[in-house]
Amino acid sequence: MSMNSSDPRLKALARMIAETCDLELTCDELLDRVARYVETLKKRETPDDTLALVEKHLRLCPECREELIALLRAEGVDPASVGISLTDD
Ligand SMILES: [Zn+2]
Repeated sequence: MSMNSSDPRLKALARMIAETCDLELTCDELLDRVARYVETLKKRETPDDTLALVEKHLRLCPECREELIALLRAEGVDPASVGISLTDD
């Protein structure tokens, strides 16, 4: 089997790796910031640059998104009401 760079499976893999590298925050770093992110959502404030990184991570990391949703629910906030969805779309 030859390695052809136009193979769509390889392209998908390369994109997945690029997106993973693109997370910028590790999951631990994200969890350090997620409480502040929840506060910001609750106050309907505009996220600052640090929180923009949090949002980016949350878009790409389903595990951390679940953590966020659990936190929001614990705070009595409906995730959908602050624009957080369980699905990717
Ligand atoms: Zn994560």
